[in-house]
Amino acid sequence: MEAIDKIREAGLKLTPQRKAVYEAMMELRHAPIEAIISCVQSKDKEITLSTVYRILDSFYKAGLLSQVYHPQTNKCYYDITVHSHHHLFYGQQIVDYEDPELTQLIRQHLEKKNLVSADIEKIQVQITVNKSLI
Ligand SMILES: [Zn+2]
Repeated sequence: MEAIDKIREAGLKLTPQRKAVYEAMMELRHAPIEAIISCVQSKDKEITLSTVYRILDSFYKAGLLSQVYHPQTNKCYYDITVHSHHHLFYGQQIVDYEDPELTQLIRQHLEKKNLVSADIEKIQVQITVNKSLI
């Protein structure tokens, strides 16, 4: 789906700046704020830091982006993938890891420990690997 459709579908007004930030995220997939800013500014020198911050915040609140914390750097990365998924980490690399079976196993395990399914908001496993992912 195109950036413009995603932004409109989230109920946000389409602006050239929002389109530029969403397109940067489509390209970067997972990125800390500095990387998003430099990607957006490489295409639009006029866009200010505060505008990018504001747009990322509005995208996050509208459910257009999710966030993930890198276990080694403790940095917050914005993530273009918003549905439930896991991550593989190697150095600065972050790769999505889709494994509904793993999510289900954890959910069942937690239910056995008396944590009811309705109380679980999100299950996200972070796996750090010792070889390059690319
Ligand atoms: Zn992700």
